[in-house]
Amino acid sequence: MTSTLTRTYEVRTHGCAMNVHDSERLSGLLEGAGFLAVEDGEDADVIVFNTCAVRENADNKLYGNLGQLLPRKQANPNLQIAVGGCLAQKDKANIIKKAPWVDVVFGTHNIGSLPALLERARHNAEAQVEILESLETFPSDLPTKRDSAYSALVSISVGCNNSCTFCIVPSLRGKERDRRPGEILAEIEALVADGVIEVMLLGQNVNTYGVEFGDKGAFAKLLRAVGQIKGLERVRFTSPHPAAFTDDVIEAMAETANVMPQLHMPLQSGSDKVLKDMRRSYRSEKYLGIIERVRKAIPDAALSTDIIVGFPGETEEDFQATMNVVSSARFAICYIYQYSKRPGTPAATLPDQISKEVVQERFERLIALTNEVAWNENKLQIGKSVEVLVANDGRKDDATGRLTGRAKDSRLVHFSLPAGMKRPRPGDLVTVTVTDAGPYHLLADPDSADEVIVRRTIGGDAFERVNEETETKRKSLSLTPRK
Ligand code: SF4
Repeated sequence: MTSTLTRTYEVRTHGCAMNVHDSERLSGLLEGAGFLAVEDGEDADVIVFNTCAVRENADNKLYGNLGQLLPRKQANPNLQIAVGGCLAQKDKANIIKKAPWVDVVFGTHNIGSLPALLERARHNAEAQVEILESLETFPSDLPTKRDSAYSALVSISVGCNNSCTFCIVPSLRGKERDRRPGEILAEIEALVADGVIEVMLLGQNVNTYGVEFGDKGAFAKLLRAVGQIKGLERVRFTSPHPAAFTDDVIEAMAETANVMPQLHMPLQSGSDKVLKDMRRSYRSEKYLGIIERVRKAIPDAALSTDIIVGFPGETEEDFQATMNVVSSARFAICYIYQYSKRPGTPAATLPDQISKEVVQERFERLIALTNEVAWNENKLQIGKSVEVLVANDGRKDDATGRLTGRAKDSRLVHFSLPAGMKRPRPGDLVTVTVTDAGPYHLLADPDSADEVIVRRTIGGDAFERVNEETETKRKSLSLTPRK
């Protein structure tokens, strides 16, 4: 129960990992200012929308959500509504014009101002709009309330120096700003000391890290340095840009034991003509060359990508080129997006916009192909032993009792436990053998407890083996030595 004097908050997040991480900071800031997270089923006193401007109908969704809150605001004038994120950066004061019951609008460069803006709006009984055009402080300096105790998002850069014609990010997030390596490493060390065993390094263009301080090899060096942090089991990163992908990064991935055998690298299109129109400065041959070198250096790597279908001017031949790259690259996961006009982007004004029917038909064909490719790739995992990091919401399904988590290569694994075996906790590492596969997941249904190993982090690089049969012995195991 919360006291009647304590105000509660709720952050509603839309969009990418960057926004998820910004929302963790918004929560940290609000808690630092004395607010408490609202309990399930209760109405919050402050509702914050952390918005995304990437989708065409993002505006409609936001204004729809704000409209639904109007009766609540009329019934309770003490309710405060704040809108931040990329849509706020784009629409600025127009948000207040369209939804005058909103109390605060803040942008992507000043999330740290939220508590002060809420207070000022309340004190002055007047809506507050504050949008900065560039970043003043790197947001990682702000307090953070993380969603997971064992897995953390860590920003290494924000902003982007590219100008892909379909993307609104550069105009909303600004030029790339890089954090200093020492600061990043200190943050990760502190996280590990707190029990985190997995980090995701985040950047709009994660592999151009270092461009601001003039070190082209900085990202590979950072991966190797993060690899030295004791107790950190898993390092991932998202998203690299193919144009900037260099072999030193592949070498660092292959030679750093805790950098996971996984690469998510957006393709967007397999057609060189479309890539040119998208102002993506690599071509399909370069993309496939990177994939080939990654597979050679890290044979068990799982590859995933983002693809846009129906970019203006995309012909059937261009689309076939994308299908060909998908077949050659053998992606384990493809995130496919139907092109839709994003206001404010150069592509929105290009001629030859493709009809919705054609986009839908190509989308379905590509989904069918990517499912087939992914399923074939997943079937190759049957019989292999995988180590699964049990997810926060680790219960998969009540009917089968299976739990869920991610393997080292980031594949989703649903696994069952033999009768009588103690259930692992979120953040435990469970080793099981894959017994079946679907297009989007692997299954592991072991017959006996002997086939399952459960490790639980107890800080540093020490783990306890907590299989049911060894539970009473509480036997400490040390990790396999790393390179
Ligand atoms: S690289 Fe392109 S798609 Fe990615 S954030 Fe920059 S402009 Fe957008």
